[in-house]
Amino acid sequence: MKTAWELLEQLYFERVSGTEGEKRGADIIEQAIKEAGVEVYQESFETQGAVIEKVSFEVLTPYYKQYEATAYYNSGSVEDLEADLLYYEQESDVLKKQAEGKVLLVNGYVGIAGYKKFADTKAKAFISYNGKIDHCEDYDLDQREFREPLKALGSMVGINIKVEDAMELVQKQAERVRITVKQTEGKKVSQNVLAEIDGYENKDVIVLSAHYDSVPNSRGIYDNATGCVALYDLIRYFKEHQPRHHLRFVFCGSEERGLLGSKAYCAMHEDALEEIKLNINLDMVGSIMGKRIAVATAEEALVHYTDYFAKEIGFPLEARQGVYSSDSTPFADHGIPAISFARITSPGTGEIHNRFDVIEHLDERLLLEDIDFVRQYTERMANAYVIMVKKEIPQNMKDEIDKYYGREKKEGKSTC
Ligand SMILES: [Zn+2]
Repeated sequence: MKTAWELLEQLYFERVSGTEGEKRGADIIEQAIKEAGVEVYQESFETQGAVIEKVSFEVLTPYYKQYEATAYYNSGSVEDLEADLLYYEQESDVLKKQAEGKVLLVNGYVGIAGYKKFADTKAKAFISYNGKIDHCEDYDLDQREFREPLKALGSMVGINIKVEDAMELVQKQAERVRITVKQTEGKKVSQNVLAEIDGYENKDVIVLSAHYDSVPNSRGIYDNATGCVALYDLIRYFKEHQPRHHLRFVFCGSEERGLLGSKAYCAMHEDALEEIKLNINLDMVGSIMGKRIAVATAEEALVHYTDYFAKEIGFPLEARQGVYSSDSTPFADHGIPAISFARITSPGTGEIHNRFDVIEHLDERLLLEDIDFVRQYTERMANAYVIMVKKEIPQNMKDEIDKYYGREKKEGKSTC
């Protein structure tokens, strides 16, 4: 049987949602669990995918230049779209008034919060950028996606360029630009890997989750092959130490595209959600430098319990209530108390979502410490006489989940 670290090394390649790499990752995890003598299977689900055939971005006046660009998957196609460029540097009524019919250069990542700043401007297209100006030579152009929740606000073609190019556009006052994006949208298949350890009381279920997919240009070793090998170690442990309650292990695909694997799991097992009393999620552990955190999307009491438990066994941990951007959120959104554990890198000591997410920034000893803590925590929960966490998501957490998903608050209709 493989050790956790050996499995980690085996997962050291790109595992992007809907690709062969992701499937290979699922197969490797499945095989390792099989070798540990535990029943395991894959469950596939469909996601919206796109094949990009052409992207071009040119400045026409006051100078001519072609820039390297990627297109946002699922943001649509345009052929030779010509328009004026506007640096939409912030959400402002002034810029909103100027934005109609333009191509907007925007700061930051265009997720739901970013898109809301200009979705209603009637702009023709948007340009985002990534990278760090002091690492010009040293990064990849991100391949981004125009996710489903954004479409609800109206579609807009988007492209992504490099930070130094974005700065050049502003400094040289690029005026007239031309964009072509050609893409075909279609379905892609992703999958979750599921394994189960039966409890001897055979009733309540605790779901342990970790995503195994990565973003493009990243081998996703810290984020989140580490969480997966932690689950693998837990499976091996609990196979030998049967718990009172059921443990269900869900290795999620497509997390990086908007928590799609855990969302799919919840959608496909709606009638089984009743028996799930808690979700313990792992996303990023084992880094050399950093700090241990626990984020509970649950009643405040779970935060205190977790804090006390860590103190009791001598494990430094910062526990708080909140929404962690990972697979714990869909579970909490379905009324299941959820807690995510991570060892977050300290600034400058590790990166994610690019090719610098490397195994050299991880440490086996620290990884095993993280695993051991989560093992002890899970063991307490899984052997509790009754699962003590209240199966209820408090209103403040419901509000935070709504905010995280960019969902509008349902306000009562005005009567005047
Ligand atoms: Zn992650």
